[in-house]
Amino acid sequence: FRVPLVENEPMRSYSLGSPDRAKLQAAIAEMEQSLPFEVPCIVNGKPVKTGKLAKQPIPADHAKYLCTYHEADQATVANAIDGALAAKAEWESMPWNDRAAIFLKAADLVSGKYRYKLLAATILGQGKNAWQAEIDAAAELTDFFRFGVKYVEELYAQQPPKNAAGAWNRVEYRPLEGFVLAVSPFNFTAIGGNLPGVPALVGNTVVWKPSPAATYSNYLVYQVLAEAGVPAGVIQFVPGPPPEVVAQCIDHPSFAALHFTGSTFVFKKLWKDIAANLDKYKGYPRIVGETGGKNFHFVHSSADVKNAVLQSIRGGFEYQGQKCSALSRLYVSSSLWSAGFKDQLLQEIAKIKVGAPQDFGNYMGPVIGRPAFDKITSYIKKAKDAGGEILIGGTGDDSKGYFIQPTVILTKDPKSITMREEIFGPVITVYVYDDNKIDETLELIDTTTEYGLTGSIFANDRKALLHATNKLRNAAGNVYYNEKCTGAIVGQQPFGGGRASGTNDKAGSISIFYRFVSARSIKENF
Ligand code: GLU
Repeated sequence: FRVPLVENEPMRSYSLGSPDRAKLQAAIAEMEQSLPFEVPCIVNGKPVKTGKLAKQPIPADHAKYLCTYHEADQATVANAIDGALAAKAEWESMPWNDRAAIFLKAADLVSGKYRYKLLAATILGQGKNAWQAEIDAAAELTDFFRFGVKYVEELYAQQPPKNAAGAWNRVEYRPLEGFVLAVSPFNFTAIGGNLPGVPALVGNTVVWKPSPAATYSNYLVYQVLAEAGVPAGVIQFVPGPPPEVVAQCIDHPSFAALHFTGSTFVFKKLWKDIAANLDKYKGYPRIVGETGGKNFHFVHSSADVKNAVLQSIRGGFEYQGQKCSALSRLYVSSSLWSAGFKDQLLQEIAKIKVGAPQDFGNYMGPVIGRPAFDKITSYIKKAKDAGGEILIGGTGDDSKGYFIQPTVILTKDPKSITMREEIFGPVITVYVYDDNKIDETLELIDTTTEYGLTGSIFANDRKALLHATNKLRNAAGNVYYNEKCTGAIVGQQPFGGGRASGTNDKAGSISIFYRFVSARSIKENF
């Protein structure tokens, strides 16, 4: 068995008048007519209706709900854990090519039969525009499954380099002993699939707690996996109040690993809770997390202004800045700033349309919910109070949906609050640096925040590019030259960062799979 050649899923453009656009619009309209959907927990392949109902509002129209879902209660979580442990023996001993076939089929279902439905759920429920939804719920989700199969094949092929005469050494990549807990975020439907998918591909069974704000799209991802043939019990779908479900899982003696994407605050808390439980467990749990960012663009005086402007707008405002990788600190050379950078930036931002994402003319949609709206607007206010100048935007309108205008704050204080803290919204803070103070500026980029996720360097002078790259060695796990700091592609740019941004295990690469196996070395003498 060899995995077929794996390619990135081609993206559809949904351009005006295209058949793809018409099909997607029809899928959205159909979904709008049938909502709210009812979403159960799924334990051992069976729907569980706990009766503890919660709602997933539509962020562009918060009077409406995409779904009501049954929150997992204690008994449901306990059954999910027991079922995951019971399903493990058969799943881990299933021939690898059968597990691979299931995930390749899941990729085809995402790419084909479920594509528009997944997109519609991501557009309505998570407020992504069609293009952002395509990148996420169609392309990246498909890529995670297909490339995942390829990486696991490569992993299993890894063997000790040397066999002495008369002996055969081999390495077996066993799944972890116990169950894996996957906790996924609202901002990428694809991550919803990847967090349970990665451990399951290497033979683990998983209890999966999706984000409340992505319940419906993640439920569809669950359906894809089930239809593709993931056996009952291998992935347990337990939406619910995050603290309770997660605490119950990490309190369990068979807890073996956490696969997490979300906030730094929650990740640190879970890490400490796991550490406090250590004596309960059979082994040392694996802790894999991708968390916050405070990502930068460094624009050198040799940069192409137009490109740096457009890439900064995309990096900061696509999906309303709600990517861990989004640009939020923009350092611009003073000579470029006054020679057109500022004017072009403001002119281009003024063209941005903000509104409901199912209207394809809108570049930006709503932010995810009430707490996000309040947090982002309060940061804008704090920046103003601290002397920051709002160059554009700065306002929000939450009367119908949670809309915030693309906002640029100019600061004279490079350590002001919006240069330091993660906002997770459409806010870029600009610091204009003196062209003669390159090293001081690079030092600021490196030391102002606790994060280390992504960053871009804009320069046509290669010496300047390399100098910045060297000085910023630990400031980002993903670095881009002359391009925005978002949009890592599976199989092309392994994604993740260090410092407070996570364990840097690189989603979309072979590295992450090593975290969910425990190798056994076997020596046989002939
Ligand atoms: N992988 C995404 C990107 O490169 C970001 C993922 C996230 O927000 O967690 O933009």
